[in-house]
Amino acid sequence: MAAVCRFCATPLEHDFVDLGMSPLSNAFLETGDLNRMERFFPLHAYVCGECFLVQIEEFESPDAIFRDYVYFSSYSDSWLAHAREFAARATDRFGLGTASLVVEIASNDGYLLQYFKERGIPALGIEPAGNVARVAMDAGIDTVMEFFGVALARRLRAERQGCDLLVGINVLAHVPDLNDFVAGLKILLADGGVLSMEFPHLLQLVAHTQFDTIYHEHFSYFSLLAVRRIFRHHGLEIFDVEELPSHGGSLRIYAQHPDGNYPHRDSVERLLAKEREAGLDRLAIYRHFAERVHEVKRDLLEFLIETRRAGHRVVGYGAPAKGNTLLNFCGVGTDFIDYTVDRSPHKQGRFLPGTHIPVHPPERIAQTKPDYVLILPWNLQDEIVEQMTHIRSWGGRFVVPIPRLAVLP
Ligand code: ZN
Repeated sequence: MAAVCRFCATPLEHDFVDLGMSPLSNAFLETGDLNRMERFFPLHAYVCGECFLVQIEEFESPDAIFRDYVYFSSYSDSWLAHAREFAARATDRFGLGTASLVVEIASNDGYLLQYFKERGIPALGIEPAGNVARVAMDAGIDTVMEFFGVALARRLRAERQGCDLLVGINVLAHVPDLNDFVAGLKILLADGGVLSMEFPHLLQLVAHTQFDTIYHEHFSYFSLLAVRRIFRHHGLEIFDVEELPSHGGSLRIYAQHPDGNYPHRDSVERLLAKEREAGLDRLAIYRHFAERVHEVKRDLLEFLIETRRAGHRVVGYGAPAKGNTLLNFCGVGTDFIDYTVDRSPHKQGRFLPGTHIPVHPPERIAQTKPDYVLILPWNLQDEIVEQMTHIRSWGGRFVVPIPRLAVLP
Protein backbone atom coordinates (compact mmCIF):
# COMPACT_ATOMS: atom_id res chain seq x y z
CA MET A 1 0.00 0.00 0.00
CA ALA A 2 1.36 3.40 -0.94
CA ALA A 3 1.91 5.85 1.88
CA VAL A 4 -0.56 8.70 2.18
CA CYS A 5 -0.24 12.23 3.56
CA ARG A 6 -0.72 12.23 7.34
CA PHE A 7 -2.88 15.34 7.08
CA CYS A 8 -4.95 15.12 3.88
CA ALA A 9 -4.56 11.40 2.96
CA THR A 10 -3.38 12.17 -0.60
CA PRO A 11 -1.00 9.42 -1.85
CA LEU A 12 2.64 10.51 -1.44
CA GLU A 13 4.06 10.48 -4.95
CA HIS A 14 6.73 13.18 -4.80
CA ASP A 15 10.20 12.63 -3.34
CA PHE A 16 11.78 15.35 -1.22
CA VAL A 17 14.97 13.47 -0.33
CA ASP A 18 15.85 9.82 0.20
CA LEU A 19 18.51 9.53 2.93
CA GLY A 20 18.74 5.75 2.69
CA MET A 21 18.59 3.45 5.71
CA SER A 22 19.30 4.90 9.12
CA PRO A 23 19.01 3.77 12.76
CA LEU A 24 16.81 5.80 15.11
CA SER A 25 18.81 8.94 15.84
CA ASN A 26 18.51 8.67 19.60
CA ALA A 27 19.25 4.92 19.79
CA PHE A 28 22.67 5.33 21.43
CA LEU A 29 24.53 2.09 22.04
CA GLU A 30 26.30 0.66 25.09
CA THR A 31 29.57 -1.24 24.70
CA GLY A 32 27.67 -4.53 24.91
CA ASP A 33 25.44 -3.56 21.97
CA LEU A 34 28.30 -3.11 19.52
CA ASN A 35 28.38 -6.73 18.42
CA ARG A 36 24.62 -7.07 18.11
CA MET A 37 22.43 -6.50 15.10
CA GLU A 38 21.20 -2.94 14.86
CA ARG A 39 17.86 -1.90 13.42
CA PHE A 40 17.84 0.46 10.44
CA PHE A 41 14.75 2.07 8.94
CA PRO A 42 14.21 3.91 5.64
CA LEU A 43 14.68 7.66 6.01
CA HIS A 44 12.81 8.93 3.00
CA ALA A 45 11.03 12.28 2.96
CA TYR A 46 8.15 13.07 0.62
CA VAL A 47 6.20 16.20 -0.13
CA CYS A 48 2.42 15.99 -0.43
CA GLY A 49 1.33 17.29 -3.85
CA GLU A 50 -1.94 18.55 -2.37
CA CYS A 51 -1.09 20.32 0.95
CA PHE A 52 2.75 20.56 0.57
CA LEU A 53 3.37 18.95 3.95
CA VAL A 54 6.89 17.45 3.89
CA GLN A 55 6.89 14.21 5.84
CA ILE A 56 8.44 10.82 6.42
CA GLU A 57 6.58 7.59 6.89
CA GLU A 58 6.10 6.13 10.33
CA PHE A 59 8.17 2.96 10.73
CA GLU A 60 8.58 2.79 14.48
CA SER A 61 5.97 3.50 17.11
CA PRO A 62 6.33 6.78 19.03
CA ASP A 63 6.38 4.65 22.15
CA ALA A 64 9.64 2.99 21.13
CA ILE A 65 11.15 6.31 20.07
CA PHE A 66 10.19 8.56 22.95
CA ARG A 67 9.78 6.46 26.11
CA ASP A 68 13.45 6.70 27.08
CA TYR A 69 14.54 9.99 25.63
CA VAL A 70 18.20 10.99 25.92
CA TYR A 71 17.61 14.66 25.24
CA PHE A 72 17.45 16.73 28.42
CA SER A 73 16.54 20.30 27.46
CA SER A 74 18.31 21.85 30.44
CA TYR A 75 21.78 20.88 29.18
CA SER A 76 21.89 23.78 26.74
CA ASP A 77 22.44 27.28 28.19
CA SER A 78 21.10 29.08 25.14
CA TRP A 79 17.96 26.92 25.16
CA LEU A 80 17.26 27.78 28.80
CA ALA A 81 17.66 31.47 27.96
CA HIS A 82 15.21 31.02 25.08
CA ALA A 83 12.67 29.42 27.43
CA ARG A 84 13.06 32.10 30.11
CA GLU A 85 12.49 34.88 27.60
CA PHE A 86 9.42 33.21 26.13
CA ALA A 87 7.86 32.76 29.59
CA ALA A 88 8.43 36.43 30.43
CA ARG A 89 6.98 37.72 27.16
CA ALA A 90 3.97 35.39 27.10
CA THR A 91 3.08 36.25 30.72
CA ASP A 92 3.04 39.94 29.83
CA ARG A 93 1.35 39.77 26.48
CA PHE A 94 -1.45 37.38 27.46
CA GLY A 95 -1.96 38.70 31.00
CA LEU A 96 -1.24 35.38 32.73
CA GLY A 97 -1.56 35.22 36.51
CA THR A 98 -2.25 32.98 39.49
CA ALA A 99 -5.73 32.06 38.15
CA SER A 100 -4.39 31.01 34.73
CA LEU A 101 -3.33 27.58 33.57
CA VAL A 102 -0.26 27.04 31.39
CA VAL A 103 0.14 23.62 29.81
CA GLU A 104 3.19 22.51 27.91
CA ILE A 105 3.14 19.45 25.68
CA ALA A 106 6.50 17.66 25.61
CA SER A 107 7.56 19.51 28.73
CA ASN A 108 10.78 17.48 28.97
CA ASP A 109 12.62 18.09 32.26
CA GLY A 110 10.56 21.19 33.09
CA TYR A 111 13.07 23.59 31.51
CA LEU A 112 10.23 25.99 30.44
CA LEU A 113 7.50 25.47 33.04
CA GLN A 114 9.91 26.27 35.89
CA TYR A 115 9.81 29.91 34.72
CA PHE A 116 6.00 30.07 34.92
CA LYS A 117 6.03 28.31 38.27
CA GLU A 118 8.46 30.84 39.74
CA ARG A 119 5.96 33.56 38.77
CA GLY A 120 3.22 31.74 40.65
CA ILE A 121 1.35 30.72 37.48
CA PRO A 122 -0.14 27.19 37.68
CA ALA A 123 1.59 24.94 35.18
CA LEU A 124 1.09 21.40 33.97
CA GLY A 125 3.52 19.40 31.86
CA ILE A 126 2.66 16.57 29.49
CA GLU A 127 5.67 14.35 28.82
CA PRO A 128 5.60 10.68 27.83
CA ALA A 129 9.33 10.07 28.27
CA GLY A 130 9.55 8.76 31.83
CA ASN A 131 13.19 9.53 32.48
CA VAL A 132 12.90 13.25 31.65
CA ALA A 133 9.38 13.58 33.15
CA ARG A 134 10.65 12.29 36.50
CA VAL A 135 13.32 15.00 36.59
CA ALA A 136 10.53 17.60 36.18
CA MET A 137 8.41 15.97 38.88
CA ASP A 138 11.35 15.88 41.28
CA ALA A 139 11.64 19.63 40.71
CA GLY A 140 7.98 20.03 41.74
CA ILE A 141 6.46 20.44 38.27
CA ASP A 142 3.12 18.69 37.92
CA THR A 143 3.56 16.33 34.93
CA VAL A 144 1.30 13.84 33.15
CA MET A 145 3.36 10.98 31.68
CA GLU A 146 1.34 10.30 28.52
CA PHE A 147 1.18 11.01 24.81
CA PHE A 148 -1.07 13.90 23.87
CA GLY A 149 -4.11 13.60 21.62
CA VAL A 150 -7.90 13.85 21.68
CA ALA A 151 -8.31 11.19 24.40
CA LEU A 152 -5.97 12.89 26.90
CA ALA A 153 -7.32 16.38 26.04
CA ARG A 154 -10.89 15.26 26.81
CA ARG A 155 -9.83 13.74 30.12
CA LEU A 156 -7.86 16.81 31.21
CA ARG A 157 -10.71 19.12 30.17
CA ALA A 158 -13.13 17.07 32.29
CA GLU A 159 -10.82 17.30 35.30
CA ARG A 160 -9.80 20.95 35.23
CA GLN A 161 -10.15 24.36 33.60
CA GLY A 162 -9.29 25.02 29.97
CA CYS A 163 -5.81 26.08 29.18
CA ASP A 164 -5.03 29.80 28.90
CA LEU A 165 -1.65 29.25 27.33
CA LEU A 166 -1.00 25.96 25.58
CA VAL A 167 2.61 25.60 24.51
CA GLY A 168 4.41 23.09 22.34
CA ILE A 169 8.06 23.68 21.54
CA ASN A 170 9.49 21.25 19.03
CA VAL A 171 6.70 18.74 19.43
CA LEU A 172 4.43 19.30 16.40
CA ALA A 173 7.02 17.75 14.10
CA HIS A 174 7.27 14.70 16.40
CA VAL A 175 3.61 13.75 16.11
CA PRO A 176 2.69 10.81 13.87
CA ASP A 177 -1.09 11.27 14.17
CA LEU A 178 -1.13 14.96 13.35
CA ASN A 179 -4.92 15.29 13.05
CA ASP A 180 -5.53 13.66 16.45
CA PHE A 181 -2.93 15.94 18.04
CA VAL A 182 -4.28 19.21 16.60
CA ALA A 183 -7.87 18.19 17.36
CA GLY A 184 -6.69 17.65 20.97
CA LEU A 185 -5.22 21.16 21.09
CA LYS A 186 -8.60 22.58 20.07
CA ILE A 187 -10.29 20.70 22.94
CA LEU A 188 -7.81 21.67 25.66
CA LEU A 189 -7.67 25.38 24.78
CA ALA A 190 -9.90 27.64 26.95
CA ASP A 191 -12.25 30.14 25.34
CA GLY A 192 -9.99 33.16 24.94
CA GLY A 193 -6.91 30.97 25.36
CA VAL A 194 -3.78 31.15 23.25
CA LEU A 195 -1.94 28.32 21.62
CA SER A 196 1.76 28.71 20.83
CA MET A 197 3.74 26.18 18.84
CA GLU A 198 7.37 26.29 17.76
CA PHE A 199 8.82 24.13 15.04
CA PRO A 200 11.72 24.28 12.58
CA HIS A 201 10.71 26.27 9.51
CA LEU A 202 10.68 24.35 6.25
CA LEU A 203 11.68 27.52 4.40
CA GLN A 204 15.01 27.51 6.30
CA LEU A 205 15.48 23.77 5.85
CA VAL A 206 15.13 24.22 2.10
CA ALA A 207 17.09 27.47 1.83
CA HIS A 208 20.04 26.22 3.93
CA THR A 209 20.06 22.53 2.97
CA GLN A 210 19.40 21.47 6.59
CA PHE A 211 18.64 17.90 5.54
CA ASP A 212 20.19 16.56 8.77
CA THR A 213 17.14 17.85 10.67
CA ILE A 214 15.30 15.00 8.94
CA TYR A 215 15.23 11.99 11.24
CA HIS A 216 12.74 9.38 12.36
CA GLU A 217 11.61 11.37 15.39
CA HIS A 218 10.55 14.20 13.06
CA PHE A 219 7.54 13.00 11.12
CA SER A 220 6.56 16.37 9.56
CA TYR A 221 8.38 19.49 8.29
CA PHE A 222 6.16 22.56 8.22
CA SER A 223 5.80 25.68 6.17
CA LEU A 224 3.39 28.31 7.49
CA LEU A 225 1.29 27.57 4.40
CA ALA A 226 0.87 23.92 5.42
CA VAL A 227 0.42 24.48 9.15
CA ARG A 228 -2.19 27.20 8.65
CA ARG A 229 -4.21 24.86 6.49
CA ILE A 230 -3.99 22.07 9.09
CA PHE A 231 -4.93 24.32 12.03
CA ARG A 232 -7.80 25.92 10.10
CA HIS A 233 -9.17 22.47 9.28
CA HIS A 234 -9.38 21.85 13.05
CA GLY A 235 -10.96 25.21 13.90
CA LEU A 236 -7.85 27.10 15.03
CA GLU A 237 -6.79 30.44 13.52
CA ILE A 238 -3.17 31.57 13.45
CA PHE A 239 -3.13 35.28 14.38
CA ASP A 240 0.60 35.93 14.72
CA VAL A 241 3.89 34.36 13.74
CA GLU A 242 7.50 35.06 14.71
CA GLU A 243 10.65 33.88 12.99
CA LEU A 244 13.20 32.61 15.53
CA PRO A 245 16.87 31.70 15.10
CA SER A 246 16.55 28.42 17.07
CA HIS A 247 17.36 25.13 15.32
CA GLY A 248 18.58 26.95 12.23
CA GLY A 249 15.37 28.95 11.88
CA SER A 250 12.06 28.14 13.54
CA LEU A 251 8.56 29.55 13.53
CA ARG A 252 6.58 30.39 16.63
CA ILE A 253 2.92 30.57 15.74
CA TYR A 254 0.14 31.92 17.93
CA ALA A 255 -3.36 30.56 17.36
CA GLN A 256 -6.77 30.90 18.97
CA HIS A 257 -10.38 29.87 18.48
CA PRO A 258 -11.93 31.72 15.47
CA ASP A 259 -13.82 34.11 17.80
CA GLY A 260 -10.69 34.78 19.91
CA ASN A 261 -9.62 38.07 21.51
CA TYR A 262 -6.41 38.79 19.67
CA PRO A 263 -6.28 40.82 16.44
CA HIS A 264 -4.64 39.24 13.41
CA ARG A 265 -1.18 40.66 12.85
CA ASP A 266 0.14 41.24 9.34
CA SER A 267 3.14 39.01 10.22
CA VAL A 268 1.06 36.07 9.02
CA GLU A 269 0.27 37.41 5.54
CA ARG A 270 3.83 38.71 5.15
CA LEU A 271 5.37 35.33 5.87
CA LEU A 272 2.87 33.51 3.65
CA ALA A 273 3.86 35.85 0.83
CA LYS A 274 7.56 35.13 1.49
CA GLU A 275 6.90 31.38 1.32
CA ARG A 276 4.96 31.70 -1.94
CA GLU A 277 7.75 33.82 -3.36
CA ALA A 278 10.25 31.08 -2.42
CA GLY A 279 8.03 28.58 -4.25
CA LEU A 280 6.86 26.51 -1.27
CA ASP A 281 3.38 26.30 -2.85
CA ARG A 282 4.74 24.58 -5.98
CA LEU A 283 6.51 21.24 -6.47
CA ALA A 284 9.61 22.42 -8.35
CA ILE A 285 11.59 23.64 -5.35
CA TYR A 286 11.04 20.37 -3.48
CA ARG A 287 12.21 18.36 -6.48
CA HIS A 288 15.58 20.13 -6.60
CA PHE A 289 16.42 19.67 -2.93
CA ALA A 290 18.05 16.22 -3.13
CA GLU A 291 20.81 17.31 -5.50
CA ARG A 292 21.92 19.99 -3.02
CA VAL A 293 21.99 17.38 -0.26
CA HIS A 294 24.28 15.18 -2.35
CA GLU A 295 26.59 18.16 -2.82
CA VAL A 296 26.88 18.63 0.99
CA LYS A 297 27.80 14.94 1.30
CA ARG A 298 30.48 15.19 -1.38
CA ASP A 299 31.95 18.31 0.28
CA LEU A 300 32.15 16.68 3.71
CA LEU A 301 33.71 13.48 2.40
CA GLU A 302 36.20 15.40 0.30
CA PHE A 303 37.27 17.42 3.35
CA LEU A 304 37.58 14.35 5.58
CA ILE A 305 39.51 12.32 3.02
CA GLU A 306 41.98 15.13 2.32
CA THR A 307 42.42 15.90 6.01
CA ARG A 308 43.05 12.29 7.03
CA ARG A 309 45.41 11.72 4.11
CA ALA A 310 47.40 14.75 5.27
CA GLY A 311 47.75 13.05 8.67
CA HIS A 312 45.45 15.43 10.54
CA ARG A 313 42.97 14.31 13.15
CA VAL A 314 39.28 15.18 13.30
CA VAL A 315 36.87 14.77 16.19
CA GLY A 316 33.24 15.74 16.55
CA TYR A 317 31.55 18.10 18.96
CA GLY A 318 28.06 17.13 20.08
CA ALA A 319 25.94 14.03 19.68
CA PRO A 320 22.65 15.51 18.47
CA ALA A 321 20.08 13.59 16.46
CA LYS A 322 20.94 15.71 13.43
CA GLY A 323 24.57 14.59 13.67
CA ASN A 324 23.44 11.00 13.40
CA THR A 325 21.50 11.70 10.22
CA LEU A 326 24.51 13.46 8.71
CA LEU A 327 27.09 10.83 9.70
CA ASN A 328 24.95 7.85 8.70
CA PHE A 329 23.94 9.37 5.37
CA CYS A 330 27.56 10.29 4.58
CA GLY A 331 28.95 6.96 5.84
CA VAL A 332 31.33 8.64 8.28
CA GLY A 333 32.56 6.45 11.17
CA THR A 334 35.75 6.15 13.22
CA ASP A 335 37.62 5.84 9.92
CA PHE A 336 37.24 9.63 9.72
CA ILE A 337 36.26 10.89 13.18
CA ASP A 338 38.08 9.52 16.26
CA TYR A 339 35.29 10.34 18.69
CA THR A 340 32.74 12.99 19.52
CA VAL A 341 32.01 14.75 22.83
CA ASP A 342 28.81 15.86 24.52
CA ARG A 343 28.02 17.74 27.70
CA SER A 344 25.15 15.42 28.57
CA PRO A 345 26.26 12.62 30.94
CA HIS A 346 23.40 10.54 29.48
CA LYS A 347 25.30 10.30 26.19
CA GLN A 348 28.87 10.04 27.52
CA GLY A 349 30.33 6.54 27.51
CA ARG A 350 27.88 5.44 24.82
CA PHE A 351 28.25 5.14 21.02
CA LEU A 352 26.46 6.89 18.17
CA PRO A 353 23.87 4.68 16.47
CA GLY A 354 24.95 3.27 13.12
CA THR A 355 28.41 4.82 12.99
CA HIS A 356 29.51 3.55 16.46
CA ILE A 357 31.57 6.69 17.09
CA PRO A 358 32.28 6.86 20.87
CA VAL A 359 30.92 9.81 22.89
CA HIS A 360 33.24 11.32 25.52
CA PRO A 361 33.01 14.32 27.89
CA PRO A 362 34.15 17.63 26.30
CA GLU A 363 37.38 17.63 28.37
CA ARG A 364 38.68 14.88 26.10
CA ILE A 365 39.35 17.44 23.36
CA ALA A 366 41.92 19.35 25.47
CA GLN A 367 43.62 16.03 26.27
CA THR A 368 43.98 14.82 22.67
CA LYS A 369 44.37 18.20 20.89
CA PRO A 370 42.83 17.32 17.50
CA ASP A 371 43.46 19.45 14.40
CA TYR A 372 39.77 19.87 13.57
CA VAL A 373 36.56 19.83 15.59
CA LEU A 374 33.48 19.14 13.45
CA ILE A 375 30.50 20.89 15.05
CA LEU A 376 27.48 18.61 14.61
CA PRO A 377 24.81 20.80 16.31
CA TRP A 378 25.55 23.69 13.93
CA ASN A 379 22.56 25.57 15.39
CA LEU A 380 24.59 25.96 18.63
CA GLN A 381 27.79 26.86 16.81
CA ASP A 382 28.35 30.27 18.49
CA GLU A 383 27.89 28.82 21.97
CA ILE A 384 30.25 25.92 21.22
CA VAL A 385 32.97 28.06 19.65
CA GLU A 386 32.87 30.27 22.75
CA GLN A 387 33.08 27.32 25.17
CA MET A 388 35.83 25.60 23.21
CA THR A 389 37.90 28.59 22.16
CA HIS A 390 40.98 27.01 23.81
CA ILE A 391 41.39 24.62 20.85
CA ARG A 392 43.01 27.55 19.06
CA SER A 393 45.90 27.43 21.56
CA TRP A 394 47.23 24.33 19.75
CA GLY A 395 46.10 25.47 16.29
CA GLY A 396 42.83 23.51 16.31
CA ARG A 397 40.04 24.72 14.03
CA PHE A 398 36.28 24.39 13.94
CA VAL A 399 34.48 22.93 10.94
CA VAL A 400 30.75 23.29 10.23
CA PRO A 401 29.14 20.95 7.66
CA ILE A 402 25.83 22.75 6.92
CA PRO A 403 24.65 24.62 4.80
CA ARG A 404 28.01 24.18 3.03
CA LEU A 405 31.20 22.87 4.58
CA ALA A 406 33.13 25.71 6.20
CA VAL A 407 36.40 25.75 8.17
CA LEU A 408 35.99 28.63 10.62
CA PRO A 409 38.75 31.26 10.72
ZN1 ZN B 1 -1.35 16.42 2.21
